[in-house]
Amino acid sequence: MMPKPQSRTDAHALPLPLPGIAGLAPYRQGKATLSDVAEPLKLSSNESMLGPSPRAIAAYQACSKCLHLYPDGSQQALRAAIGEVHGLDADRIVCGNGSDELIQLLIRAYVGPGDDVVISQYSFAMAFVHAIAQGANAVSVAEPQLRPDVDALLAALTPATKMVVIASPNNPVGQYLPRDELLRLHAGLPGDVILHLDSAYADYVEAPDYEAGATLVGPNENVVMTRTFSKLYGLAGLRIGWMYAPTAIIDMVQRIRTPFNANAAALAAAEAAVRDTEYAEMVREENRTEFARISTALTGFGIEVVPSAANFYLIRFPMTGRDPVGAAQHLESQGIIPRPVNTGPEAWLRISIGRPQQNDRVIAALQDYIR
Ligand SMILES: *Cc1c(COP(=O)(O)O)cnc(C)c1O
Repeated sequence: MMPKPQSRTDAHALPLPLPGIAGLAPYRQGKATLSDVAEPLKLSSNESMLGPSPRAIAAYQACSKCLHLYPDGSQQALRAAIGEVHGLDADRIVCGNGSDELIQLLIRAYVGPGDDVVISQYSFAMAFVHAIAQGANAVSVAEPQLRPDVDALLAALTPATKMVVIASPNNPVGQYLPRDELLRLHAGLPGDVILHLDSAYADYVEAPDYEAGATLVGPNENVVMTRTFSKLYGLAGLRIGWMYAPTAIIDMVQRIRTPFNANAAALAAAEAAVRDTEYAEMVREENRTEFARISTALTGFGIEVVPSAANFYLIRFPMTGRDPVGAAQHLESQGIIPRPVNTGPEAWLRISIGRPQQNDRVIAALQDYIR
């Protein structure tokens, strides 16, 4: 007979979470509803108002016939499609339940109690959460020029640093780190520090000096790029993202991911979406021309607009008596939901780029607010 476990008698003892977790603030999603507007224009979460490619919708619908089957745990078809379209090695790709999950898996595999994770200021908030859940220290590095600051990131390294995280384009600003600066950042890192490039908005960037990270993954053992179908591909609701990483890192992530972390509908829709390069180009093009139009209009009213390479923009109000909080209230009174953001001491408003008529509504409402 097995020995009886020692009895535990303290009925008043309480379950204890791991240190750090109870101190985390719950994630706050962009506002989605207004109490007095039935169908508000939600421009708070950088979703694509164009929606996904019709081919992605067809693939999703076709999947209704196979809902009783487990998805392909090896994610073969989607990895192959991403590899073909982006010219990457499919063996170094792993897909997940949004890039968020992949960031979590990466941190779980490489970061432990007492380690440092250096996180550039304007990156994905969940990197902090995952680092702290591991018992690590999340070290935030300011972006005074509104983009990752290479010298400050390198200065934040300690012997305990395991990972450096930047988003490029960053969020909520929309600025990217030019390739030469990215290379300088990587060159300054010891080989055992992982550089995680969160390239969620890479699909929108057309600048020739932009590097999403894939060319660094090839020759280096310590660079990881994550991408998502939530933004340009319009599949945020399905939750599907991917990671491109050196084989050794992919191997570790494969060991801890759940076998079916990317669901069948998401795999099918994302495969069709990534292969529809014409649709992606159309979305990219509309985003670019709409941002140029919005920027010109708002600047004309005296509103400050930060140049953006992504599908959202950051504004503030240099004129007296006008501020992001008031502007947000005014936009909401017009049925439009923006995202107020605090970048340290300063308040800004972040607004997703919508369809032309939606952007017209934003422009008109902001003109009205300025008057
Ligand atoms: C939207 C966004 C993501 C995407 O997350 P998913 O989990 O793939 O939806 C990642 N990083 C940043 C900075 C983002 O803004």
